[in-house]
Amino acid sequence: MRLPSIAIDQMRAYPPRMTEFTQRFWSDLALGRLTTTRCDACGKLTFPPKPFCPHCWSRAVQWTDLAGRGTLYSQTVIHAAPAAFAHEVPYRVGIVDLDEQVRIATRILADREPRLGGAVQIVTLSYRDGPLFAAQPV
Ligand SMILES: [Zn+2]
Repeated sequence: MRLPSIAIDQMRAYPPRMTEFTQRFWSDLALGRLTTTRCDACGKLTFPPKPFCPHCWSRAVQWTDLAGRGTLYSQTVIHAAPAAFAHEVPYRVGIVDLDEQVRIATRILADREPRLGGAVQIVTLSYRDGPLFAAQPV
């Protein structure tokens, strides 16, 4: 399934550092898929994806799709941002509990304060130079 996508006609303010391992994540995200790794040994998911399992240290991990739905655990508004994001203030960030029991930190797209515990959808932000992701209350 494909995440909703929002086109943003700008370059990313602070592009993610790409490694040989994380390349897969960013390629999938560009195709509208939120992916991460699942451990073959203990079955636990990890986000962000890692080449090893931080729960049991196994290196037997597989890529897997996340549905991109969850609930908002916490959020705040950033007014004093790092220099790279200063032109974007105020903006909202938060913590989302995905339906697969993975807790992620992400930008929150909401003009008004969203309800904690409310449902959110992960969306792809399609910048000119590549994708990012964010959560949007639904
Ligand atoms: Zn494990």
